[in-house]
Amino acid sequence: TDSYSPPVDLPKNDLLGGLLAAEFDKQSCLSRFQSAIYQKISPHKPSSFLVSKLREYEKLHKRCGPYTQSYNETLANINSGKAIGSTDCKYIVWISFSGLGNRILTLASAFLYALLTNRVLLVDRGKDMADLFCEPFPGKSWLLPTDFPLVNQFQSFGQNSPNCHGNMLKNNIINTSTNTLPAYLYLHLAHDYGDHDKLFFCDEEQTVLAKVPWLVLKTDNYFVPSLFLMSSFDEELSKLFPDKETVFHHLGRYLFHPTNRVWGLITRYYQAYLAKADEKIGIQVRVFEEGNGPFPHVMDQILACTLKEKLLPEVDEKGFISSPLENQKLKAVLLTSLSSGYSEKLKDMYWEYPTVNGDLVGIYQPSHEEYQQTERQLHNQKAWAEMYLLSMSDVLVTSSWSTFGYVAQGLGGLKPWILYKPENRTAPNPPCRRAMSMEPCFHAPPFYDCKAKAGTDTGALVPHVRHCEDMSWGLKVV
Ligand code: GDP
Repeated sequence: TDSYSPPVDLPKNDLLGGLLAAEFDKQSCLSRFQSAIYQKISPHKPSSFLVSKLREYEKLHKRCGPYTQSYNETLANINSGKAIGSTDCKYIVWISFSGLGNRILTLASAFLYALLTNRVLLVDRGKDMADLFCEPFPGKSWLLPTDFPLVNQFQSFGQNSPNCHGNMLKNNIINTSTNTLPAYLYLHLAHDYGDHDKLFFCDEEQTVLAKVPWLVLKTDNYFVPSLFLMSSFDEELSKLFPDKETVFHHLGRYLFHPTNRVWGLITRYYQAYLAKADEKIGIQVRVFEEGNGPFPHVMDQILACTLKEKLLPEVDEKGFISSPLENQKLKAVLLTSLSSGYSEKLKDMYWEYPTVNGDLVGIYQPSHEEYQQTERQLHNQKAWAEMYLLSMSDVLVTSSWSTFGYVAQGLGGLKPWILYKPENRTAPNPPCRRAMSMEPCFHAPPFYDCKAKAGTDTGALVPHVRHCEDMSWGLKVV
């Protein structure tokens, strides 16, 4: 009725402060609407410039998405082999590549690049992208049609492919006059990319790329930090993200909504084990060492970090502290790991001894899959559910080098304590440090000054792009 007006905050929170488009059906993707109930309201508001950019993008996607007239016309370029004049819509096709954490980060990077260059993002569905994520854009799918002409070549695309941008630069066969440009270029931005591939991050090359209707991208890296170093983009980036460390936080919550199946995994677990706790502590344990864990030095490091930083209470192994019955806090630890050993040890410790302050500590680990099984459907659904559950923590501890942890921290808007990477099977001292920002780290950035045509330390050029806490050669936005 006319007299009823809903509480002002409610519809806004539902849509994450205007980040999400309103025109979606609720049942097909419950997480899009229910996430606001489970997650803390983010203190980081998206800028109005970002919100309007997203609404503009959604219009573009509707006009240019799969099987629209513009799509069909632009596709004709690929079939004819070269770019015929200028096309109405231009595209960036993201190839599904690498582990799930990596994929989430690269997809966000590709989307930001699409926003900055007015391209339409289309997603290679790989084995399971459609089982993991809801459609983010209203009205038209983001999934690349399975009859797209190059789909069967995606796996074999590499540095030496004939249409690889870097390869063409190396062989001097890219000619900037429009009529000799190919209909598509393959961008190889994977960790093993070469100096010519890295020229992608030079402004002059962007002028050339802007003329190519189809860009096909393979990467396993969060390349956003290097976009901040390019004069083509830095002005728009600072308008989109006045708070620079929120790039992945906003784009991630805009793009990645768990499908109903995964949302069930998340909400059942959350309600059964975490919801009642006074404080939720996420601990993400990722061990990049040979052999099966659990490793004693990693266990030592987890304890050293969480106790020293007072994230978890000490236990009293000698005395006999009788717990006060008042003001006892219930702490829930969500520990994720491929191995079950670390959470079992913690659980034993808090069962066998009282805590010095009387707090009660419950330890929960949703799965222990033992090894990475990138091709198995339920495995990736669980991995996605666990990243999301970690993002719902009040306090987060993550492992160095792990994109799995970066996704959790970014979605949750959390600055985690990062466990340093152990060397020679010993716990590092100090065991961990607080992250400078919630942004992910770009693990393989270029170290090249495009103007001077010489090497440079790209982590020392501007105050907001620095070397990462967990990888000295990486770059992150702070
Ligand atoms: P990264 O290798 O740590 O950067 O993260 P990725 O997500 O890209 O790749 C690791 C993959 O291993 C994940 O996608 C999962 O398939 C699996 N994995 C690693 N750690 C865990 C974990 O704690 N829980 C689950 N369920 N899977 C994990």
